[in-house]
Amino acid sequence: MLHEPLIIYIEDNLDNQRLVQRVLTSRGYRLLLAEDGPAGLALAREHTPDLLLVDLGIDGLDGYETTTRLRGMSHLAHTPIVALTANNTSDSRARALVAGCDGFLSKPIDARRLTDQLAEFIAGKRELLPVAMETPLLRAYNQKLVERLEQQVRELTTANAELHESDRLKSQFLASLSHELRTPLTSISGFVDLLARGTLGELNPGQRECVDVMARNVETLSNQINNLLYLQEVRSTQLRREPVALDSLLRCLEDAVRPLAKRAEVHLVIRGIDTPQPPVDADRSALELALRHLLDNAIKFTPAGGHVLLELRNEPTRALVRVGDTGIGIPPEALERIFLPFYQVENPLTTPYIGSGLGLAIAHHIIEAHGGHITVRSAMGKGSIFMVILPRTTKNEG
Ligand code: ADP
Repeated sequence: MLHEPLIIYIEDNLDNQRLVQRVLTSRGYRLLLAEDGPAGLALAREHTPDLLLVDLGIDGLDGYETTTRLRGMSHLAHTPIVALTANNTSDSRARALVAGCDGFLSKPIDARRLTDQLAEFIAGKRELLPVAMETPLLRAYNQKLVERLEQQVRELTTANAELHESDRLKSQFLASLSHELRTPLTSISGFVDLLARGTLGELNPGQRECVDVMARNVETLSNQINNLLYLQEVRSTQLRREPVALDSLLRCLEDAVRPLAKRAEVHLVIRGIDTPQPPVDADRSALELALRHLLDNAIKFTPAGGHVLLELRNEPTRALVRVGDTGIGIPPEALERIFLPFYQVENPLTTPYIGSGLGLAIAHHIIEAHGGHITVRSAMGKGSIFMVILPRTTKNEG
């Protein structure tokens, strides 16, 4: 054999897979196996096989539909597709040909004849359907496809409605849970504060250390709960817009996060706030919160000695705020998902950081509600840049 012919075999039965694999590889064929229609289509997109062998009885996207889809791929226009089925009736044969197959092998597989049968198709053998049979069969096949499609759309619509409902219930649950947790936490926080101030008596060093740990954890917990509550609220409340001078807002933010940066031994650099610029029409506290989340993250995910940059750039129609860091970076596959609520990158480097996975979701929501965009670029081990783009004029929010 001059070259080893490549065959893609779509089959969900393991025994058949093994049998065909053994027979074909022993005769110098290369075989790629797929256990269902979508996996077979994915293989077919990546390779140009000499022949495709399709079991018609596979579940889900069945063998007929898979064949029709394969036939539609331009690089497979002349590749033989051979159906394999236990149902050896002439009707089943005709339906396979109408779906786009070039021939038909019956199960059980005849191991002694299989390679010769496939070689005939590779050499050009094609089974044809009498023209008189073709039109009614095609019509029936089309009808079946449309019915399947209709059924799928119905199922998807129902599933979508169920998802919406469970999302609504989840939000309701989170909101009431956060409210329930906030009340006792406020009281714990108050008493910890009394202890820390020494109002209830002087603390010895061991006690002070314990109270400090408690205070830090209470703060973390209440931040998490506030984020949860905020995410629920921000979805349903309108922005309170006013003219906001971004340079002064950024200066306030800088003051607020400087102690954090100092504690983390990260250098905070701020740029672009020296020349006064026209204000943007924004909800000041919401915008401040969104940028605060970005800055907190930048500091949190940057090791000691690194840099965090906060930069304002003004353009005639929009303002750009850049939050950059020289931190651990975000893996490319996570970039699309980091703005989703509760998403946190699975990374041993981020394990020591406590977070809720809500900061970016909140920031994203706020920026989009302003008619703006937030984008991110990142390189692992080098750092990340979050870019917030805010339109200078407000579109009617309707
Ligand atoms: P969290 O409370 O976990 O910080 P966020 O929604 O703010 O939640 O961020 C989601 C995840 O995105 C983080 O857990 C982290 O894995 C990743 N991430 C966000 N900002 C940065 C950054 N500047 N550098 C590296 N990773 C980041």
